[in-house]
Amino acid sequence: MALKAIGALFEEAPAVDDGKACGIDRPVLLKGLPGGIKVEPAATIRCETALQLARWMEGSVKPSLEAAMPGEAITVLSQASAYVCRNRNGADEGRISEHAFGNAVDIAGFALKSGKTVTIRPADKEPTLEGAFQRAITEAACLYFTTVLDPGSDAAHQNHLHLDVKERRGGYRYCW
Ligand SMILES: [Zn+2]
Repeated sequence: MALKAIGALFEEAPAVDDGKACGIDRPVLLKGLPGGIKVEPAATIRCETALQLARWMEGSVKPSLEAAMPGEAITVLSQASAYVCRNRNGADEGRISEHAFGNAVDIAGFALKSGKTVTIRPADKEPTLEGAFQRAITEAACLYFTTVLDPGSDAAHQNHLHLDVKERRGGYRYCW
């Protein structure tokens, strides 16, 4: 209901169960975000993940873009990974990824109304408005998601933002 109320475009999808603890009881197929932004490709995730994604877009990404590039608008959010049954960073061993529970989504970038695209890349020191935009939305993502990994985090995240809603004891967040 909250996802509908915020204006997201989605379908309720059948339960996913791939064994090995992977799966989502009540997934949604997220196709669009408030304001007619397309999600490409459509993302299979938990409702909570979709809702936080919509809230982050509304609360941070759209206003930050308006500040950085007045008159521009986001038409497409490109996601690089949603539900997938795998370990963290695709390793053969180790802990299972939040992607395997539908808790995570990877953001590769955005397409804009003008035809320009903004892609996530190492931008910690980039002295441009686009660099400032990426840093602003990455910082703000920690208000909506409990884990935020960006190109500054490690070699596995050079071209996307990893955002997830993993629940931690004490409500701790892991963002850097
Ligand atoms: Zn990820």
